Amino acid sequence: MLSEAPATAGGEKFSKRRLVVVTLIAVILSVEVLLHWTWLPYIENMRLLSLGGLAEIAIWLLLASVLVAVQTQRLPERIYWLLSVGLGIWLISQTADLMDEFLRQPLWISVYGEDSARVVGMFVVTLGLIALIRHSSAMLQELEFLSFHDSLTGLCNRRMFQKSIAAKGQDIFALMLMDLDHFKTINDKFGHDIGDLVLRGIADLLQRHCAERGEIFRLGGEEFAVLMGDASQSEIEQFAESFRQRVASLNGDDKTRVTISIGTGLRRRGESSSELMRRVDRALYRAKDAGRNRVMSSE
Ligand code: GH3
Ligand code: MG
Ligand code: MG
Repeated sequence: MLSEAPATAGGEKFSKRRLVVVTLIAVILSVEVLLHWTWLPYIENMRLLSLGGLAEIAIWLLLASVLVAVQTQRLPERIYWLLSVGLGIWLISQTADLMDEFLRQPLWISVYGEDSARVVGMFVVTLGLIALIRHSSAMLQELEFLSFHDSLTGLCNRRMFQKSIAAKGQDIFALMLMDLDHFKTINDKFGHDIGDLVLRGIADLLQRHCAERGEIFRLGGEEFAVLMGDASQSEIEQFAESFRQRVASLNGDDKTRVTISIGTGLRRRGESSSELMRRVDRALYRAKDAGRNRVMSSE
């Protein structure tokens, strides 16, 4: 389920990595500008202010701003390095491209500093972008899963329950609301970890018992729900009763016995889902009031 958080880089105000990357790029850029300057006697026409020259300044600024953005965001280590190194090389090639708009450039800089470096830089940035897209897509999938599932039991959560009910529109469906009896005592007696184990055990049992017949949810705490699309009132009652018995038969000992109270109901034609919820909730409370460990159907 939850994948381990990848190591991230950048984002911290004065991270060492950021300093190393920025210093290295600044040094290489300065060397490159100095190299051009040594050819100063061969000043060309000032093409810098032409349309092509202005476009090259714009590209330089765009690359530099993306490089700065990469330094200030939290990114997985591998993506951070691919983008930083790729953009750095690309920026160096762009500097060479810009400088030759107003200074004559040695041929070897054109070939190695400009064209080859640009290809290498673009290639590495492409690898970084592909990795970033894959990472974002995986994160999105994981976030989507987490927002609709309960991390303890793996069941769908209350948000998914509301979504499922809304998706049913005006359909008739049956609802089972369940609440473990005296669960607080189990926590108090045996500790929270054992309480968690019990909740997982109940979730497993629900999945084995109900997965084929309906959708199962953990609404929160020790409350669970089942939605069944095509059941009659008597069917849902029988179903709830057999599940109650299975829970009660899990442990024989009176001290450790876990029991569950259940309220059931079938949606009436034209009834809103919140009205059905209130009805079934009242049935569950009647089951609690009547002594727990029982099933009550809504009136
Ligand atoms: P009742 O029979 O009236 O339902 O009594 P109860 O003790 O089950 O109900 P109550 O609402 O008083 O207590 C619910 C307890 O469930 C309290 C809380 O500590 C526990 N609980 C809620 N969520 C979790 C969880 O994720 N893990 C564990 N171990 N306990 C939880
Ligand atoms: Mg409760
Ligand atoms: Mg309870």
